[in-house]
Amino acid sequence: MAKEWGYADHNGPDHWHELYPIAKGDNQSPIELHTKDIKHDPSLKPWSASYDPGSAKTILNNGKTCRVVFDDTYDRSMLRGGPLTAPYRLRQFHLHWGSSDDHGSEHSVDGVKYAAELHLVHWNSKYNSFGSALKQPDGVAVVGIFLKIGHEKHEFQLLLDALDKIKTKGKEAPFSNFDPSCLFPACRDYWTYHGSFTTPPCEECIVWLLLKEPITVSHEQMAKLRSLYSSAENEPPVPLVRNWRPPQPVKGRVVKASFK
Ligand SMILES: [Zn+2]
Repeated sequence: MAKEWGYADHNGPDHWHELYPIAKGDNQSPIELHTKDIKHDPSLKPWSASYDPGSAKTILNNGKTCRVVFDDTYDRSMLRGGPLTAPYRLRQFHLHWGSSDDHGSEHSVDGVKYAAELHLVHWNSKYNSFGSALKQPDGVAVVGIFLKIGHEKHEFQLLLDALDKIKTKGKEAPFSNFDPSCLFPACRDYWTYHGSFTTPPCEECIVWLLLKEPITVSHEQMAKLRSLYSSAENEPPVPLVRNWRPPQPVKGRVVKASFK
């Protein structure tokens, strides 16, 4: 594999294990969800997020996704409850999408792929640093939200309008006063399982909370996301239109539902 991982034929998901052996581990993400096999776990509590809009700092294009970064130096924007046994701090959120509206999500539900998937990444503050949390099975909690095509989502536009400032790889711009809970669907029902980051190094440290209800964005909003480039300003332009990892083997893991 090339020195840098990516999503192309020569450095894509099938090659990641060459530099990151855990990518072939027993707890990899994403996975396919088959709802008829998923049991309701009555012990799963509701979850809640209390985010401080002032903790949003910057938005960046790293050539693989657009990411919004938060101040996580203290308990400021927090995720609690659900399957979590401690409070988790919001560190960043980012998206995965495809080249057209009919695919792009990483997880799938009963064979359905959504147009995109939003990942809100939080770390268990009992581990003192994000780096230490990555080494723990309950170190990180990711809230995953599916995006489907329909009417425009006004709150999503706040994010999309900032993309003009980060068209190419390596660009970063201030992005403040944003509470990402404005992107949550109305229903808080979720599926949960133990898995990994879906990008290298694919650490197996994640408690997933996948929200059952997708949010709706417009075709035009998805097109705006695809207007980013994975290339730097001084390079030939390469559109950033495919940044999802395909489903990984479940290997006996159990997915639980918070709802009947
Ligand atoms: Zn992700």
